[in-house]
Amino acid sequence: MVPIVLAYHRVGARRGIGISHVTPSQLEDHLDALEDWGYRLGTLDEVLAELIRPSSSERTVLLTFDDGTADFLEHAWPVLRRWGARPVLFPVVGFLGRSNRWDPAPFRTRHLTWKELQHLAAEGVEIGAHSVTHPFLAHSSSSRVRREVYRSKVLLEERLGVSVRAFAYPYGDWSPEVAATVAQAGFEVAFTMDPFLPATPENRFSLPRVGIYRMDGRRRLGGKLGQLGDRTRRRLLLEARWINRCSYAGRLFRH
Ligand SMILES: [Zn+2]
Repeated sequence: MVPIVLAYHRVGARRGIGISHVTPSQLEDHLDALEDWGYRLGTLDEVLAELIRPSSSERTVLLTFDDGTADFLEHAWPVLRRWGARPVLFPVVGFLGRSNRWDPAPFRTRHLTWKELQHLAAEGVEIGAHSVTHPFLAHSSSSRVRREVYRSKVLLEERLGVSVRAFAYPYGDWSPEVAATVAQAGFEVAFTMDPFLPATPENRFSLPRVGIYRMDGRRRLGGKLGQLGDRTRRRLLLEARWINRCSYAGRLFRH
């Protein structure tokens, strides 16, 4: 079974108003609940292995964190490390050490520095790529897509000395053409924000993820994983996809 992939963004002690903001205690509660429900925390290697040759019948969850804001090091990683998680972090390369420009001014957050990212990679965090400047890739020219995809991989690999195998589409915005570029650049998998896409080898450049948001307590997380039945799961996943599309539409209007 391919692990279920959860997509987090911000983890901070002080609740921002953003819908994708969770607190460290909320994250801790999720990890505790996953253990109670019999899930194992998986790795990117397990996703890759299961895509090539499904063998495991274990229920596994892979945790991913988009954007690479500095709060990951301060608030998320201490919790994740304590639980033995091996998350995938998708930093926006062009913003390392700076504040992002795609959120409105009061909500801009500092991103990790290269040094902090190096430290996290050395501690066992899997580093993926999330473009250089966080554009809407499916709405960008093919030359820009190539630049964003190739450069993010090359820069991370050169500076960190690690192999960058996974890509996450900014805003979950992808198309078959963008996915083809990601494949040509040498990535092994890519993640969307659509929880309904099939996790199959043929679709390994458009893998599903389940967005996790501020209102997701233990019960709603369980619901997203099917603990409360198929109907509730479907409703919550439709909602997660809708939230992602709303944030996406909101940002498109500002462009
Ligand atoms: Zn992002």
